[in-house]
Amino acid sequence: MQIGHRFRCYPSPAQEQILLRWLGCQRFIYNAKVGEDRYFRAFARKALALTGTQPPVDQAYSQFIGPDTAWLRDVPSQVLRNGAARFAQAYQRFFKGLAGRPRIHRRHGPQSLWLTSELFAFEPIVSTQTGEILGHRLLVGTRKAPVGPIVFTAHKDYGLPASIRLVLDGGRWYLTFSAEDGAPEPDENDTLSRLRQLSEEELLPATFGGDRGVGIPLAGNHGQRFDFSLVQRARIAKKEARARRWQRRLVRRRKGSRNREKAKRQVAAAKRYTRNVRQDFAHQASHQLVADGRYVLYVFEDLKIRNLTAAPKAKPDGAGGWLKNGARAKAGLNKAILASAWGRIATFTHYKARRAGKLCLRVPPHHSSQECASCGHIHPENRISQSEFVCQRCGHTDHADHNAGQVIARRGVRLLLSGEYQPPRRTRCALRRQTERKLGPERSEVTPGESPVSRPAGNGRTQRTRNQEAKAARPETPATTAPAV
Ligand SMILES: [Zn+2]
Repeated sequence: MQIGHRFRCYPSPAQEQILLRWLGCQRFIYNAKVGEDRYFRAFARKALALTGTQPPVDQAYSQFIGPDTAWLRDVPSQVLRNGAARFAQAYQRFFKGLAGRPRIHRRHGPQSLWLTSELFAFEPIVSTQTGEILGHRLLVGTRKAPVGPIVFTAHKDYGLPASIRLVLDGGRWYLTFSAEDGAPEPDENDTLSRLRQLSEEELLPATFGGDRGVGIPLAGNHGQRFDFSLVQRARIAKKEARARRWQRRLVRRRKGSRNREKAKRQVAAAKRYTRNVRQDFAHQASHQLVADGRYVLYVFEDLKIRNLTAAPKAKPDGAGGWLKNGARAKAGLNKAILASAWGRIATFTHYKARRAGKLCLRVPPHHSSQECASCGHIHPENRISQSEFVCQRCGHTDHADHNAGQVIARRGVRLLLSGEYQPPRRTRCALRRQTERKLGPERSEVTPGESPVSRPAGNGRTQRTRNQEAKAARPETPATTAPAV
C-alpha cells in the first residue's frame, strides 16, 4: 500500500538558490493559471453561458511565457509544466467536492516544489564488500540544468516514488513523497464483515472507546490515559512565551527589512517545537493503540472540530454597541482543543488501523459525557464535576472520562452491528498519465497502417475564441495578458 514519507534534506547554498528559483517559477505558473481561470469565469458569467460552453480547465501554460517573462525560459520546462498540472489537480479536487477552487499561492509560509521523474533520480549506493544496497543518493535536475546530489536523512525504510516534493518550511527543507511498500492493503469491507460475525459481548472487550477532552487529550474505556509529559508541557509553555515575544518584536520592525526576516524565523522556530511535540504525541498514541493486540475496533466521537473552535458570534446590544459574548474565554478553550491534537489522533488511528486490518469508527457525540454507561440514563446532573460521574438513577459512580469512553465504545459496537455503517468511500484524484491512446470506439491497439486519433478537449470553442481574440488584439497589445501575481 501507499505510504507517505517526510525526510529532512540539506541542499547546499548554491543548490538552494536554484531550487528557490524553480519554486518561484512553478508558483508563478500556478498563480497565472488561477488568474486566467478567474478571468475566464468572469467572462463566462457575462457571455459564455449563452453559447453553452464551459471555460477551459487545462494545463496549457505557454501563453504565460513572453517578452516580459523571459526568465521563465531559464528553468526546465517540466518545472513549469508541473505548476500547470498542480493547478489542474487542484481543480479536480474542487470538482470532486474535496476542496474549494484553486487559490493564489502566497510567497510566505510553507512552499513546495513538485518534481516528476524527469527531474530527479534515486541512485542506489551499493556496498563494495557485500553488494547490498545501503541507501540512495537523490540526484536532482536535468542534463541542461543540473542541481546535483541533495543530502537527505531517511529515518525509516522507503519505496521508490514516481514523483517527489521538496518542501521549504520555516527555513528548513524536507523531501516528501509517497511510495508503495509492497505490503497488501486489507479491504475495509472484509474487516467489517469479519467483525459483524461477533456479538456485542465479544466485541466490547476488544473495542477501544476514546474520549477526547480538554483536561487530558485522550482517555480510554479500559482506563488508558494519554497525556503530554510534564517536561513537554513546561517546554511548550516556554516556547509559546518565546513566540509571543518575537511576534511583538516582529510587528515593530520595518517591512522588507532583514531584522524583520530574522524575527520571522525566530517565531517560526519557536512554533515548530510545539507543532512537532503534538504531531509526535498523536503518532505515538495512535501507534500504541493500533499495535495493542487486544483491540480490533476503535471508536471516537465525530467531533466537528472546525465548528467547535469557531469564534463566537458578535452580540449587538441594540444601541450600536456590543454585549459581552465570551470571545476571550472561547479563544482560550479553542486553543486548548487545538493543542490537544484531537483531530490528528483520530485521523492517524484511522489509517493505521486500516493498515493493520482493524476498524476505526466515528459515532455521534451527543450527550456522551452525560450518559450513564451502566443504565443509559442521560442527565446533565449525572456529571457532578469535571472528573466525577454519579448516575442520578442507578447510582453508578465512575471517573467521567472512563464513563464517557465506555459510552462511546458501546455506541460504536451498536453502530457496527446495526449494519448501518458503511466505510467511507475513498476519493482520490491523482491525475493519471494516459498510457495508451484509444483508436476509434473500444479499440486500444494500434494496428499497422493506422495512426492515433487525437480529439481536442471538450472546450474547443472557448479555446478557439481565446486564440482568435489574442490574434486580433496582438497589433495593439503584445501577447496574452499575464495576470499580476
Ligand atoms: Zn445509571
